[in-house]
Amino acid sequence: MTELVAQIPREECGIYGIFGCPQAANYVYLGLYSLQHRGQESAGIVSTNGTNLYRYANMGQVAQVFSRSKLSALQGEAAIGHNRYSTTGASFLRNVQPIRVESRLGGFSLAHNGNIINSSQIRQELEKKGSIFQTTVDTEVVAHLMSMNRETNFMSALIEAFSHIEGAYSLILLSCDTLYAVRDPNGFRPLVLGQQKSGAYVVASETCAFDITETKYIRDIEAGELVCINNQGLKAYHPFVKRKTSLCTFENIYFSRPDSIIFNNSVYNARKKLGCFLAKEYPVEADVVVPVPDSSNVAAIGYAEESGIPYTIALIRSHYIGRTFIEPDQKIRDFGARIKYNVVKTAVKGKRVILVDDSIVRGTTARKLVKMFWDAEVKELHLRISAPPTRHPCYYGVDIPTKEELIASSNSVEKIAQHIGVDSIGYISLEATHRAMQNGTQDSWCDACFSGNYPLEPEQFGSRQKQKELFTEITSDGAQE
Ligand code: SF4
Repeated sequence: MTELVAQIPREECGIYGIFGCPQAANYVYLGLYSLQHRGQESAGIVSTNGTNLYRYANMGQVAQVFSRSKLSALQGEAAIGHNRYSTTGASFLRNVQPIRVESRLGGFSLAHNGNIINSSQIRQELEKKGSIFQTTVDTEVVAHLMSMNRETNFMSALIEAFSHIEGAYSLILLSCDTLYAVRDPNGFRPLVLGQQKSGAYVVASETCAFDITETKYIRDIEAGELVCINNQGLKAYHPFVKRKTSLCTFENIYFSRPDSIIFNNSVYNARKKLGCFLAKEYPVEADVVVPVPDSSNVAAIGYAEESGIPYTIALIRSHYIGRTFIEPDQKIRDFGARIKYNVVKTAVKGKRVILVDDSIVRGTTARKLVKMFWDAEVKELHLRISAPPTRHPCYYGVDIPTKEELIASSNSVEKIAQHIGVDSIGYISLEATHRAMQNGTQDSWCDACFSGNYPLEPEQFGSRQKQKELFTEITSDGAQE
């Protein structure tokens, strides 16, 4: 992904929950740590000892937020956790998940990955009836809907609440005695189920969070499935009307870690096939194949293997660029690409280079990167993209810029090549993208950011507002414990 931190499409959350395990919060900490790539602005954990719920959440990455003493205060054998990217220009402590509420159904907590597309309307209706919201995140409407409906038991109230909700949600809830995991009927975002040797059940956004906590992957939580885990064991339900699935194509292209299994498939395999198919569709004579690290490494391996052109690490990424460095000033931002990346001149000087990346968003940083290669005196430079052109925004939990800002929405491939300054560009076709992701099931995919075919029409939620503008910002306050 050539765009810098402030410009990339952002996944919005990683979630992890565990039931039936001493020191549950410690496992959630480890799980969140391995899901850090899904959200880096805030982290939180809620645990229960069967009687009380304990919460700690704060701004920052997992390792910054939690200390040993904070974790030891999170008592109990069940816990859920959440990593978050804000969907507004800045993050606010009050919005940090998991949310914890008190209600007529008892205390409970929620952690959500996705985007509830009709949350604005639901919120307005609830506010007219007197609801007072504590946060500006879409997830809070679930808690209000549960509390306000007439169902008397927790699970019935939960199912009733979700009958009003549209959009993308992989969501976990924790009450004092049960862990619930829900995935929306379209199945936009991944959610996987695993079990530890001790018998403890785990749910997480990706299986890389299982490996670190010695958890065996059992299966995906299915689209439209509700799983309840408590001292009586695990029960699965399908309470929602069945729909054609719309698994997020971008998860395999960019967001998920290559060591994960999501959507019943290895991300590594899917990504490598993308590179291989890209080489078949857009071959070019060259001396080296160079990935834009890290998310394009595997696609570049696929491209190199298929083409027989050597794979070369010639672009070095600094892993220490933090959010503190993001857009402080236009003058500083102009150095952005150089702060994050550097070209190994000796590896590319005088050579014909194929640069493999997983998407171009606005094209601003791609242009700067390309200049760095020309400065390193490459002979030819060909850009190969392991995704189709990104032409449309996402409404299902990924912060992709507006259509007007996306370079591919109003420019031909030739024009983009000219603008960025490369000899050629080749984007993988949508057909080959889908072929690379085949997972042996009948699942279908969401590709709306490429095709504009929205599985849930944006009109259904009233406006074509940019996702990050759905809510207004609120003021930060002190740490919540
Ligand atoms: S629009 Fe794109 S990023 Fe959003 S869910 Fe669909 S494939 Fe994923």
